[in-house]
Amino acid sequence: MNRKIIIAVDGYSSTGKSTAAKAIARRLGYIYVDTGAMYRAVTLFCIQNGLIDSSGKVSDRLKSLLPDIRIEFRKSGGSETADTYLNDVNVEKEIRSIETASHVSAVSAVPEVRELLVGQQQLMGQAKGIVMDGRDIGTVVFPEAELKVFMTASPEIRAMRRFSELKAKGETVSLDEVRRNIEERDCMDTHRKVSPLRQAADAVVLDNSSMTPEEQLEWLYERVNEICEQA
Ligand code: C5P
Repeated sequence: MNRKIIIAVDGYSSTGKSTAAKAIARRLGYIYVDTGAMYRAVTLFCIQNGLIDSSGKVSDRLKSLLPDIRIEFRKSGGSETADTYLNDVNVEKEIRSIETASHVSAVSAVPEVRELLVGQQQLMGQAKGIVMDGRDIGTVVFPEAELKVFMTASPEIRAMRRFSELKAKGETVSLDEVRRNIEERDCMDTHRKVSPLRQAADAVVLDNSSMTPEEQLEWLYERVNEICEQA
């Protein structure tokens, strides 16, 4: 497959987007970009700098501080996946915490934050050969992406997956707390004014409720093949 394409993977929280996106990127030798990590890093910056009040409101001061935020993905050691760095500090663990998750939807609803991150994401995809996952990749970041996938799974399965993931990382959190966080984020992400989460008209739906990671990879690989054969 010589032709390089852009693969946009969108969907609700904890639908396994990043697992599937990483796997297909590895199979194709493409770059993988986790845009959720970028919104989470900005959220961590807000928490660290007291920009979120006790009611969860994001301070207007964030807008003037945006130039001070530098997000990078760096590979550490021999690891295959990249870690997220915020201003030269590895924040991979902190951005996955339930505290960051509980504020990320409010921060990502700020139009100036989206404008900044979408611009950076578009630059990353200029050369194609990229798999990007998020909420607005097929609708806003790359509306011309050759393959758009909209991932979904039942709410119980999603909560259980995220719960197991957090527990494995040593977070003390209850299944109920995780379920609530997922529901709240989905609600805020689908109802925000700027770039709400929605399925692009030309996206293909992947409901992975009862699929193994291997089956999802094969499914994605077939879709890529179909597109590349058409060319
Ligand atoms: O993908 P992940 O669950 O890490 O995303 C965290 C949050 O970042 C989402 O709930 C959403 O609020 C925000 N996000 C977004 N647009 C993207 C990716 C993530 O608004 N492209």
